[in-house]
Amino acid sequence: MKQPSNLSRLMETAGRHRLLTYASWVLSAISALIALVPFWYIWRIIQEVLRVSPHLDQAQNLAWYGWMAVAFALLSILVYVGGLMCSHLSAFRIATNLRTKMMHHIAALPLGFVEEFGSGKLRKIVNESSSATETYLAHQLPDKAAAIATPCGLLVLLLVFDWRLGLLSLIPVVLGFLIMMAMTGKRMAEKMKQYQDALDSMSNQAVEYVRGIPVVKTFGQTVFSFQKFKDAIDNYQVWVIAYTKELRAHMMWYNAAVNSVFVFLIAAALFFTQDGVTSQFLLNLLFYIFITPVISLTLTKIMFMSENGMIVADAMERMDSVLNLKPLSEPALPKHPKDSSVELEHVTFSYDGVTPVIRDVSLTIQPGQTVAFVGPSGGGKSTLAGLLSRFFDPQQGQVKIGGINVKDISKPELMNTVSFVFQNSRLIKASILDNVRLGKPDATREEVYEALRSAQCLDILEKLPQGMDTVIGTKGVYLSGGEQQRIAIARAILKNTPVLILDEATAFADPDNESRVQAAFANLAQGKTVIMIAHRLSTVANADCIYVVKDGRIVEQGKLSQLVAQQGLFASMWKDYQTSVQWKVSKEEQA
Ligand code: ADP
Repeated sequence: MKQPSNLSRLMETAGRHRLLTYASWVLSAISALIALVPFWYIWRIIQEVLRVSPHLDQAQNLAWYGWMAVAFALLSILVYVGGLMCSHLSAFRIATNLRTKMMHHIAALPLGFVEEFGSGKLRKIVNESSSATETYLAHQLPDKAAAIATPCGLLVLLLVFDWRLGLLSLIPVVLGFLIMMAMTGKRMAEKMKQYQDALDSMSNQAVEYVRGIPVVKTFGQTVFSFQKFKDAIDNYQVWVIAYTKELRAHMMWYNAAVNSVFVFLIAAALFFTQDGVTSQFLLNLLFYIFITPVISLTLTKIMFMSENGMIVADAMERMDSVLNLKPLSEPALPKHPKDSSVELEHVTFSYDGVTPVIRDVSLTIQPGQTVAFVGPSGGGKSTLAGLLSRFFDPQQGQVKIGGINVKDISKPELMNTVSFVFQNSRLIKASILDNVRLGKPDATREEVYEALRSAQCLDILEKLPQGMDTVIGTKGVYLSGGEQQRIAIARAILKNTPVLILDEATAFADPDNESRVQAAFANLAQGKTVIMIAHRLSTVANADCIYVVKDGRIVEQGKLSQLVAQQGLFASMWKDYQTSVQWKVSKEEQA
């Protein structure tokens, strides 16, 4: 079915290492055959015992046979270990190659995709799905080779000594095999996928739940207020119980079948020995009683193997869900923006391809201007800003920077033209120096220091034990939201792109931090085209133009005084804002 194609795809990723994979199969199969040799020596021992019985002291070679059995068992283990070494070398290489391939692909995807997909889910696919292939290649496939070689060897052994008993011992094997096929068919593969989906949804909801714990605690809610999480757990539970119940009967019959071999052997023995027992028959019967448990063991191995095959098929499918996402198109003949102007022409965009969240927006921002997007939450401000740096491409209309469609600007040039300071700027777990240097990898220490000074970060450096070299996120070195934003501003200052998008924070813990962030923003914005997403109105007064975004449209635009005079949406927002400021001031006066 799917397996060969999955396997050949994995082998493609292996490169030269694929030879090691094949070698591991061969070694594993040889080891399985060698593992049967001790049984032959045991047969010789029984034969010898029966021959001399009851004068056991006349027996010769017993010790020799015994040691030979041990030697072959050891040899089999050694060959198997050799096989596993080969398979691991290639499996690790394949898993690494898969991860690298996915990471390269993700790097080429539009940034907006990562948000949509969910970083937790992405991490799980990159890490766990590639690990699933590793287990498959390193252990399961060599074991499969062994599991195929063993029955072949066994078949020879079973038929050589007494073909009648041999054939009888095969009946439970055939029965077990049929039941196994019923258990692992296409329908089960479908169920396996549902199981993985239920598990995924539960872990996604768990992450959401953990994120929401502050809300739960603050508002004294119970776990039941996280209905989605509870639903995901319930769904998983229902699923697992149904799955288990469905397999219960199959599993029972399977176990009964593969373990029923003695029933056949003993019945046969009674039948064949009606006229008396020969020592040769006794010898063979004893041998079959010894060896038949190997059959059930091998069968059970094969059964779990097909389950693993399903797991790897599912893992490949999940990786494909990432790899099949289209990266942003790269222009064949890149053009260069002429200046730092920004223009939207009849831009329409929707996340789901159905409901537009930006509807036919047109605007022009001259080089060096500072504009602000304001408006109710969910109106489309962040989406508009995202379109400028190709987080997404619009379905209709054009986004232009310096008179050139952003689709015609090469990715590196676009990155060097537009930079973003997010509301929740993420810092990586590295030194402050390295965090800031992300903006310009070849910057000197002095340049980084200058950027940090400009971004009002010197007070942060002072309180940290190793200054710029302090690693963030370790041993209690955590920065407040405002501090993190200032470091992110330092990064943007170092990057020094002509167009800047600032996503202003919604709230600050303390006024001191707020004024420092504003000062840092002011330093950053000098001489640049700045688009500010203003969640509060405290910073929009000096903007060259304010765009009021509501329901994906620009409903008002102009300078502060013009908008206030219009008596529209902005005027009422402005009035509310003024009232709240006065309220705050009078509270402070009272205090
Ligand atoms: P604002 O920044 O003004 O608060 P946004 O641009 O974030 O508004 O959101 C505009 C609309 O798009 C909202 O209805 C929001 O629910 C939706 N939206 C935002 N991000 C996504 C996304 N990644 N996937 C789907 N819908 C989204």
